[in-house]
Amino acid sequence: MPLFCDVALAVPLDVVFTYAIPPGMEPVVGGRVLVPFRQQRMSGIVVELHDRPPQVKTKKVIEALDLSPVLDEHLLKLGKWIADYYLAPLGEVFRTMLPLAAEFKRAVAYRITDAGRMALHLAGMSGSPARSKRTPEQQLVEFRVLDYLAERESVREEKLRGATRVSKALLSGMVRKKWIAREDVSAARDAARVVKVAVLLGAEAAELRSAWTGEGARPHTSKSKNLNENQRTLIETLAAVGGSLPVEILREVDVPRTTLGTLVRRGLIELVDEPQDFTASKLKPRQSPFEFEFSAAQKDALAKIGAAVASRKFGGLLLHGITGSGKTAVYLACMRQVLDAGRSSILLVPEIGLTPAVAADLHQVFGDEVAILHSGLSDAERAEQWHRIRRGEARVVAGTRSAVFAPVSDLALIIVDEEQDSSYKQEETPRYHARDVGVMRAKMAGAVVVLGSATPSLESYYNAKKNKYALVELPDRVEMRPLPEVEIVDMRQEFQETGQEQVISRKLAEEIRERLEKKEQVMVLLNRRGYSPVVLCRACGKTLQCKNCAVSMTHHKRERKMECHYCGHIERIPDKCVHCGSEYVYFVGTGSEKLEELLHGFFPQARIGRLDRDTVRGREDFEHALNALNEGALDMLVGTQMIAKGHDIHGVTLVGVVGADMALGLPDFRAAERTFQLLTQVAGRAGRGQSPGKVVLQTYFQDHYAVQFAARHDFAGFYEKELQFRAWMHYPPYSAIANVLIRSEKLDEALTWSGELGRWFENTRHEGIRVLGPAAAPITRLKRDYRYHFILKSPSREKMNALLRTMLAEAAARKIPHTQVIVDVDAVWMM
Ligand code: ADP
Ligand code: ZN
Ligand code: ZN
Repeated sequence: MPLFCDVALAVPLDVVFTYAIPPGMEPVVGGRVLVPFRQQRMSGIVVELHDRPPQVKTKKVIEALDLSPVLDEHLLKLGKWIADYYLAPLGEVFRTMLPLAAEFKRAVAYRITDAGRMALHLAGMSGSPARSKRTPEQQLVEFRVLDYLAERESVREEKLRGATRVSKALLSGMVRKKWIAREDVSAARDAARVVKVAVLLGAEAAELRSAWTGEGARPHTSKSKNLNENQRTLIETLAAVGGSLPVEILREVDVPRTTLGTLVRRGLIELVDEPQDFTASKLKPRQSPFEFEFSAAQKDALAKIGAAVASRKFGGLLLHGITGSGKTAVYLACMRQVLDAGRSSILLVPEIGLTPAVAADLHQVFGDEVAILHSGLSDAERAEQWHRIRRGEARVVAGTRSAVFAPVSDLALIIVDEEQDSSYKQEETPRYHARDVGVMRAKMAGAVVVLGSATPSLESYYNAKKNKYALVELPDRVEMRPLPEVEIVDMRQEFQETGQEQVISRKLAEEIRERLEKKEQVMVLLNRRGYSPVVLCRACGKTLQCKNCAVSMTHHKRERKMECHYCGHIERIPDKCVHCGSEYVYFVGTGSEKLEELLHGFFPQARIGRLDRDTVRGREDFEHALNALNEGALDMLVGTQMIAKGHDIHGVTLVGVVGADMALGLPDFRAAERTFQLLTQVAGRAGRGQSPGKVVLQTYFQDHYAVQFAARHDFAGFYEKELQFRAWMHYPPYSAIANVLIRSEKLDEALTWSGELGRWFENTRHEGIRVLGPAAAPITRLKRDYRYHFILKSPSREKMNALLRTMLAEAAARKIPHTQVIVDVDAVWMM
């Protein structure tokens, strides 16, 4: 065995740490080890085993946690690529790749020191301790602790506090006095989430069961005669359901809690651990993709992807299929083929809770062979899914961003659905983009990657044009259903004609009325939640801002509060202006909550539901609302962009867009792209069934090309125009881009640091790299931090990353804390 190992730890330092391997221990490359780091124990990933003694004295590995790697060769390599590309510490990358936090339990223990024994001894002699600032009660507790520890080696904090009732503060004080020593005893634990199940045992059980099912005579054994009424009830309950039940459910039987324990002691019932079942989506699966005949375009797409997979070489395809063209069916059919060949596939979706139909489809097609990783899972559940995948029990994986790291073997296919979705970008270290990591993983594994979308990102579309990806199109809706007609309503003109600021135009109101009369369904999009987004004082003209952020607080009427949508800060609703005390405060603007109320006013008979972050707390709420619409229990669904995503509800014939172009006013170069995508997505919800659909699009930017092209369903037109603009401005895809954010709670620190780095950039040669800034970030204050930023653009990613690396070293040398300088490579959010 080598003498040393290099370990990547999840700390914000860009180095690996060398530890000595004690005799007899056998850590593996790609496996986890528990090591001492500063005053703690941490688990890290072994990246190398070697015999090179380091310069400094090494500490020893405490424990090797894995016999075989948790990150195989491919994933280790992928992790190193991510660390390099996104300038992130390797250990933090590995932590993101492994959802195994639940397997490591943080714990602290205490033991008595010699000084502590002495103090105990002295107190025992004199009956009272030496001069002390503590009250007599506190001293008593202290001695109780010393006494307790004197008898034992090392005691866990919870146990010690339970036994002696000592407070945390008092414990810390004792550590400071060096009477006791504190140690980190964090350790691995078994993560698999299990449920305790009660199982009926032995002959007794068999007899009871047969008695119950009528296959035998009622039992009269000696044992059963000794059972009391309660015990009998429990046993008969178990027998009735076939001999076993989760303890949690058995507890609902109306007998004393002790009865079960008694039966266990008597050997009649055994408690066993069983892995918890995975709960499937409650949404009804749609027609199975294998029940209908594929269209020619679908067949062609399937054949192309199939051929690429069969070649066992890397290949990238961009599947551009308009809304309702049947992309999901193609995904599922490809994944089925891969599974039948005994290989693995991964499907990435933006937010699985918001696409329950896909989850339902997956279960229907793949049953137990699919592992679904979604945001609603606990750490333990996530770890359990991870193990199922690694054991090869689930070779079809579907999930959000981090599912791209699923430990499948023989990876054949990665599909990224809605590849343009910004939720694929992680907004914390490591700031990776799951689509791009997916492409790289496929490249390393010789697999195929399919990027699917009705509205591909500019980057992917450009790559397809440059033949980096093969472009596969599904140009028509299934069964040749037409795309909806889009009518634009110019809201400035509406204002002039009605003399009033309108939320719902006359045209939209009329169209909604028509659909309701015909018993058809309507969706209305307003991409802003809450009741009113602004509270304005008519006397001084100021608005109510969040105390942590430079943004205005949103009024939430039903919950009677003001909420900041950026940091979550909540305040009561003001009756006076906070700036000048005037009573003339007005709530202006409309959010989805107010829109729902307005629509109720217009159409009192209609049954209206709302979908936004306020009404949807979990996947259940979401599925509930969609089911209600699907089953015709709702006439209208109002909501934010949540309603725009991928749902397939056939009764919806009208989509009203009340507000979706707010982004066009933001200083972000992706604003036009996002608006085009949102408009196209939401329009795509209309007319998916027998009757054709219509869209009424209200806008204040009616001449904007994003609005115009979306209204004409002209993808190519939009892309050409937008690409031209990107080329002029040196934005992606023509240039690599990075956002460097400098932040501090102290304004002068943020200013000084960004000034220093600005001067450093000025005095550093950086040919072929444009550096813009420092400038105040568009949101100048967020979550208490003042924010300044630089934007770097370069056609050469290597050069840009090299400069960023030197900049980070410079910042470290100037003692700017690393947490306050954030480098975001390929930033998608410039605010
Ligand atoms: P997209 O994701 O492209 O918007 P979906 O995959 O959700 O479209 O498909 C839309 C609907 O059409 C689904 O209900 C699906 O079951 C159905 N569908 C897909 N392909 C076909 C086909 N060839 N014939 C009939 N229906 C189809
Ligand atoms: Zn005021
Ligand atoms: Zn805030």
